[in-house]
Amino acid sequence: MVTSYSTNVRKRLTDRGRVRPPNMVRIGIAMLQGARHEHCEAIQHAALEMNVDIEIVELRKKSELDSTIQGLILPGGESTTMRIASQSESLLDGIFDWISNHPKRPVLGTCAGAILLANPGKNHTPFIDLEVSRNAWGRQRFSFEAPVNVSLKTPEIIHEAHFEIGRDKYNHKPLPMSKQAANMTNESFTGIFIRAPRFIEESIRCEKVATLENETVGVLQGSKLALTFHPELTNDRRFHRWLISQVMDNKS
Ligand code: GLN
Repeated sequence: MVTSYSTNVRKRLTDRGRVRPPNMVRIGIAMLQGARHEHCEAIQHAALEMNVDIEIVELRKKSELDSTIQGLILPGGESTTMRIASQSESLLDGIFDWISNHPKRPVLGTCAGAILLANPGKNHTPFIDLEVSRNAWGRQRFSFEAPVNVSLKTPEIIHEAHFEIGRDKYNHKPLPMSKQAANMTNESFTGIFIRAPRFIEESIRCEKVATLENETVGVLQGSKLALTFHPELTNDRRFHRWLISQVMDNKS
């Protein structure tokens, strides 16, 4: 299903007397399970912060993937559940094929999404070169929030804006985010780790872009960014802005 938010965004931009730039990014989000609605909200918020029009393709079936999609988000949730939920419509297989066929297009995988990038299953070569240990911080009750140090270069906010989406046609709505403005200058990011995986430090053969104390919690391999935490559950949209900026770079 394609949801175009460009009219919304355009209205807001017009309301503020800004000129709409001639750009539009088209981002696919895997809607299998987990924090997908929060990612929908986060990427639209990021687009507004960058003064970019966005179209979200909500992916539920393999047939909804095509070459017009310019970037992808694999949300966090529960990777086994996602693999099972994907079976009837082969969505994950389609997504992994799409990633292989479009090696330059950016992908953001968060938490379970990072697990899927590291371990896409026997028919696909891993997209990030490391070993990942699922649930390695312990059970759900050992989930935590902690400052993460980010070295990834991410685009600045051009227009500060608050953005919220309402319920969709399935009556789903994102969790409420804090209205507190994101801290644009600080390298530190609020990492929300929910029954999170851990990257096995000695196995990492890609660029380390986020750390929690001495442990790597974010890696970049080419156009694939994998984070073990949930950036969509904060209102700091820098990783979503990164995804949009990569799409823009591919266009130019
Ligand atoms: N523990 C989950 C898994 O194994 C990931 C947790 C998350 O995405 N918050 O898939």
